[in-house]
Amino acid sequence: MQIATTRDVLRNALAALRGEGGGRIALVPTMGALHEGHLTLVRRAKAEADHVVASIFVNPKQFGPNEDLDAYPRQLAEDAALLEAEGVALLWAPAVEEMYPAGFATSISVAGVSEGLCGAARPGHFDGVATVVAKLFNQVQPDMAFFGEKDFQQLAVIRTMARDLDLALPHVDNIIGVPTVREADGLAMSSRNRYLTPEQREAAAALPHAMRKAIAALEAGAQVAGTLAALEAELLAAGFSGVDYAALADSASLAPLTALGQAPARLLVAARIGGTRLIDNMAVNPAR
Ligand code: AMP
Repeated sequence: MQIATTRDVLRNALAALRGEGGGRIALVPTMGALHEGHLTLVRRAKAEADHVVASIFVNPKQFGPNEDLDAYPRQLAEDAALLEAEGVALLWAPAVEEMYPAGFATSISVAGVSEGLCGAARPGHFDGVATVVAKLFNQVQPDMAFFGEKDFQQLAVIRTMARDLDLALPHVDNIIGVPTVREADGLAMSSRNRYLTPEQREAAAALPHAMRKAIAALEAGAQVAGTLAALEAELLAAGFSGVDYAALADSASLAPLTALGQAPARLLVAARIGGTRLIDNMAVNPAR
């Protein structure tokens, strides 16, 4: 596996990959601190493309001023070994100055789908995500790209941006969403889970449990507002310090729903435990 840290080296490495009889290139963007969730994306990519390019870049533009940019785990050597073992051909791991050279002045903002939920709780976050993913697409020019449904709103923002801007990918359908990979107790895997103390880690399993319970209630016909309020109360009782949002939304537009309709819906939650913010989302079956 080659590791590129400059755009020149990346360009040459990509040309070499494409020279090897062509073949389809899949991109898997990450911020590193890799876990089974990330590796599942890599495996999916490997199954569908000829060459996998992974990126590791802790993107300062998607962190707010009071967020965990400095504390975010960085372990490039360990991550590179994991990616190599999965058969990744090329790791793109630029420094911040390589991605955003002096004078960098452009930002991509996706209206609508990026505005509620995490967009409301983390102003500027999705502009940072859209900007860096647009750059990654242009730098790598992949045939397909893989993202986790764990970050459901992010996936919607990226699909919208790629479609609106005719970004490098051949077709927006080549942005592939991969179902969330979970720990044995149901907690969605996340690089941020390592911030949790053992007590917090145990309490965190209340998030997927309470969500499943809420979904069972909604699918059985319970009212949305009351179910979401009960979900929030359950999280606070389990040891969460705050709930940024617990929302039922249309799966495609992410517009809030006050009742379950015929279209696919999604339950999305962001909640804090100690200083750590956890997010999760699950499908809700349409009303029968
Ligand atoms: P991150 O390093 O957190 O920016 O995540 C990089 C990619 O991995 C994103 O597309 C995430 O949605 C995806 N991802 C993170 N955690 C999981 C998980 N538990 N299951 C599936 N995909 C995930």
